[in-house]
Amino acid sequence: MINFNVPPFTGKEMDYMKIAVENQKICGDGQFTHKCNEWFEKRTGTAKCLLTTSCTHATEMAALLADIQPGDEVIMPSYTFVSTANAFVLRGARVVFVDIRPDTMNLDENKIEDAITDKTRAIVPVHYAGVSCEMDKIMELAKQYNLIVVEDAAQGVMSSYKGQALGTIGDYGCYSFHETKNYSMGEGGALLVKDSSKAEEAEIIREKGTNRTKYFRGQIDKYTWVDHGSSYLPSDLNAAYLYAQLEMADEINETRLKLWNRYYEGLSGLAQSGRIELPVIPEGCVHNAHMFYIKAKDLEERTALISYMKEKEVLCVFHYIPLHSSPAGQQFGRFHGEDVYTTKESERLMRLPMYYSLREEQVDYIIDQILKFYAAR
Ligand SMILES: *Cc1c(COP(=O)(O)O)cnc(C)c1O
Repeated sequence: MINFNVPPFTGKEMDYMKIAVENQKICGDGQFTHKCNEWFEKRTGTAKCLLTTSCTHATEMAALLADIQPGDEVIMPSYTFVSTANAFVLRGARVVFVDIRPDTMNLDENKIEDAITDKTRAIVPVHYAGVSCEMDKIMELAKQYNLIVVEDAAQGVMSSYKGQALGTIGDYGCYSFHETKNYSMGEGGALLVKDSSKAEEAEIIREKGTNRTKYFRGQIDKYTWVDHGSSYLPSDLNAAYLYAQLEMADEINETRLKLWNRYYEGLSGLAQSGRIELPVIPEGCVHNAHMFYIKAKDLEERTALISYMKEKEVLCVFHYIPLHSSPAGQQFGRFHGEDVYTTKESERLMRLPMYYSLREEQVDYIIDQILKFYAAR
């Protein structure tokens, strides 16, 4: 059986976790947490990176930092994971869903402006499959209407847009290190803060509303409750696991891209004959091979393909029932404009196995099975 996902493992994770244990500091903000934060700051150029307990929590922090209030409106795609919306719903915001582009499955930058009202406070672009949204246009709108931009870059670690790392373009960027992502710590994430004057507030929110981070740095002699906050600080054990992967980040990225390109080449004939569609990477976008998907003709064909692949011992999945059609989505949000692509395209999309330890022969086998399925149809 070829699994859909296998969590990344490089070999050094256990050594680093052992060091964390021997340090007798396994709670948050230990040496590996600091190493990871610094790694991202250096690599992406963000003013501040704070490792968190998840991308969900990083997005909740961004909503707090953005001071989202009840009744505020937040624009985002409906084709996304629930956390993108929940982080703002928890602050009492109303979610305004805008249609996606069929080529990248990202928020259609040309449909955002029409959805802006005097209650709109933020835009949340989701970089699907690690391929960037059209950030120039989104940042231009944000400037014009004075809106905050929170990038859901859960899938976009190591990707870039016109040379800028995803997560560093908007006011806040949110990364995920869940085991299904390119780099993992089991459960975990990071918040990237663009404006260094917001960094201290972010540290306080992450440390239960206290200035303990400042205290640990020796900048104050006692710590106290100074603002609202929660516990968004991951254990150093998890950070140790992640750090082993960051040391090999380029190698992991190259391995994934190689597998991605192999899929792409192997399936391009089928795409040229119009049987399936393949992912599109717009100019200026450098992606991270987070995901490889194909699009079948319609829902019926996709369902048949998924069960055919399962018979051939390959686990393929679809995802994201559009949020606006879910019970909570209907309660907390509304779809602005017409749903031309969100539902239709989401019903056609099928994800293929994609992970660091996936082998080239396995990719070839998967390609063969897809070719056979279409040859028989
Ligand atoms: C994985 C993912 C999340 C949630 O990440 P967690 O770290 O599991 O909280 C949010 N948004 C998108 C687009 C994701 O893919």
